[in-house]
Amino acid sequence: MKERVHFCSVCGNFAEEDPCALCRDPGRDGSVVCVVEQPGDVLAFERTGQFRGRYHVLGGALSPLDGTHPEQLRIQALLERMRPAAATGVADAAAGGPAIREIILATNPNVAGEATALYLSKLLIPLGVRVTRIARGVPMGSDLEYSDLVTLGRALEGRREVE
Ligand SMILES: [Zn+2]
Repeated sequence: MKERVHFCSVCGNFAEEDPCALCRDPGRDGSVVCVVEQPGDVLAFERTGQFRGRYHVLGGALSPLDGTHPEQLRIQALLERMRPAAATGVADAAAGGPAIREIILATNPNVAGEATALYLSKLLIPLGVRVTRIARGVPMGSDLEYSDLVTLGRALEGRREVE
């Protein structure tokens, strides 16, 4: 039997229900959103057990050479999550979630991931939100999904403000 893959319309992660369990969980801090490239990165952060905020899955990273441009990533959906509930009616805001105070840029520590983080920080900082980037505990060029949990946990803990 074939099962269709469903995605959460809020965060873009794989989901059995929409919004997904992570977006609906009232025990998670909706004011902190960790931005990652792929659903697998959400799993990697969840396995560290160190993050209790919410996620936003971009679906890739900017790479003009490979033909990945901003409009192909879920960047507009991220900006919509920043707007007040009344303006958008999107699920996490509509669920009474708090305004987003911090965006953690957790794209991969390689060229495309860094380019994506830079692009997003230029869009987000003018909106008055705190923008942080995970520390370079993860070796350059590696895939977040496969980095070990201690390293990933430290990278999250050591995140720094993007200026
Ligand atoms: Zn979700």
